[in-house]
Amino acid sequence: MSKPATPDQKKPLCARCRKQTVAAEYRPFCSKRCADADLGHWLTGSYVIAGRPSEDAEEAASGRPAEDDTESH
Ligand SMILES: [Zn+2]
Repeated sequence: MSKPATPDQKKPLCARCRKQTVAAEYRPFCSKRCADADLGHWLTGSYVIAGRPSEDAEEAASGRPAEDDTESH
């Protein structure tokens, strides 16, 4: 009857899919797939907004919709 020293369940989950545990090589993601997907999200997300016409600025001000990785899924 010995206590578990270091339970694996304590490992952090992937920052994108939140299902797989983080891999050291791709942290904070579980795999290259998630790492690439998140990188693409960044490139096509934040950076695009900077170059958008002022029309979208109004939407952004009133509260832009949540992104893919919301916690309430
Ligand atoms: Zn993942």
